[in-house]
Amino acid sequence: MILALDIGGTKLSAAWIDNQHCVARKQVAMRHDEAGFLIALREVTQAPYPVEKVAVAATGFLREGQVWSVNLHTIPFWKGFPLGQVLQQQFNCPVVMLNDAQAAAWGEFLPRQSRLSSLLFITLSTGVGGGLICDGELRIGSHGLAGHIGHATVNVRPLDAQPGNCGCGREGCLEHVASGTALARQASALLGRPLDSRQLFILAATDPQAEAILNNAARAVAQAIADTLMVVDIEEVVIGGSVGLAEGMLQRIRLALETFPALFHLPLTAALGGGDAGLLGAAAWAQRQTR
Ligand SMILES: [Zn+2]
Repeated sequence: MILALDIGGTKLSAAWIDNQHCVARKQVAMRHDEAGFLIALREVTQAPYPVEKVAVAATGFLREGQVWSVNLHTIPFWKGFPLGQVLQQQFNCPVVMLNDAQAAAWGEFLPRQSRLSSLLFITLSTGVGGGLICDGELRIGSHGLAGHIGHATVNVRPLDAQPGNCGCGREGCLEHVASGTALARQASALLGRPLDSRQLFILAATDPQAEAILNNAARAVAQAIADTLMVVDIEEVVIGGSVGLAEGMLQRIRLALETFPALFHLPLTAALGGGDAGLLGAAAWAQRQTR
């Protein structure tokens, strides 16, 4: 049985997968300190199932079993944290790790591979991640960074007056405009009270400022899609993550993309795996490694 783990900025999910069938699933809140994380990891992985392989989808980028946050605000202690070794010691079995958006990109590619060989997956969630499939292969890259579209810059500024720099240290990143964190920051600044991204989507139905924040974020995502198309060429864009799959976001991005010349009008689809795209993708990737 494969134990699939999805470790994101806000939650830690586990699924026990036997022959592509999910036998059990658990989820706990992510802890942002090392000691708390290890407690949460033990809690979420406790189950009476034999584990033959651990498949990990983790936010950040991975090198030789270690994980690093690009945006250090996401998980501050992920600065070379030996996640592979921790899991190997806990389960005493092979551990296969991927960036979470790369894992989801692979999981979303598999059901589409009969009709296309390249796609860009974008997750709009706590942060903004991405994964690239080119010529039928998942791109990981020599630094594990391939597809990290959240830290590509866009010519769309956030709507709050003094947004500061992105957590990666650069100015102008997509993540700083369009992530759930960025949406909450802009909504709270513009509307004058603490708001999260879920509340922003509800407000957008009646409040033009809330709607403007979401449309501005959609324009930023559309720019990043158009730039990726020009750099590596892709056939389809798959949108996932809690913000990406929120009511109306896909359509906002589609409308923003349609303001560009026809060359840039790529098909946009929603992640088939929904919120489980990372888990399912990591499990499928781990299965592939045994062949
Ligand atoms: Zn950045």
